[in-house]
Amino acid sequence: VIDGLQGLVEVSRVDTELAARERERVGVPAKRAACAEERARLEARRDAAKAAVEAADLLQRHSESDARDKEALLAKLEGQQHQIKSNEAYTALLHEMAQAREAISEAETRILEAMDAIEQRRSEAAALEQELLAVNGRLSQQERLLDERERTLEEEIAELRKRREDATRHLDAELLDRYERIAGRRSPAIAIVSREICLGCRVDIPPQRYIEILRGEELITCGHCQRILIHEDQLRQAAAR
Ligand SMILES: [Zn+2]
Repeated sequence: VIDGLQGLVEVSRVDTELAARERERVGVPAKRAACAEERARLEARRDAAKAAVEAADLLQRHSESDARDKEALLAKLEGQQHQIKSNEAYTALLHEMAQAREAISEAETRILEAMDAIEQRRSEAAALEQELLAVNGRLSQQERLLDERERTLEEEIAELRKRREDATRHLDAELLDRYERIAGRRSPAIAIVSREICLGCRVDIPPQRYIEILRGEELITCGHCQRILIHEDQLRQAAAR
């Protein structure tokens, strides 16, 4: 049984490493997605700034055309001043002229506001473009490292699987089966016993069970955490061989 146990310890070590590598590999896509998301967020802000420049530019051109139309109207109305006969018509004309002047003034205000917005949003877009350049450099580097890490993990996982195969080849099938069942519930499935304590759960081992462990004639599991128990001295013997 001790030989089998020592074999299981190796399997358990491989399983622990394998689980860590597999966990890390499963996390890689999320890290990659986080890079893409950071890039997309920044691009969206830059695009919004560019769209705002275009909108302000359009508003400026519309307002300029508006102002020109109203100036033409005002000039036409001013030309009519001397042809007016009645006071009523004259008052109406003055009212129309005042309205045109007000419309021109409003259009000019809009033009100035649009020009301000263009300047502000354009420099914002340029700053974001710069930031994007720097962030892209950093993200591309991160993505390269992730690709590399993923490749390394896959190689290591393949290697560990091979090591596991080698370690289980000469193991008793029943022993391995018991191990697998425990490993399905808790990892690692093997605990070392030191000073009558199970190091898996830190609970004292009853004296009778402790004696059985030392005897090494059958497989003993911890009454508390159900892990397969191996005494530290037995482990040391294995390492010495
Ligand atoms: Zn235990």
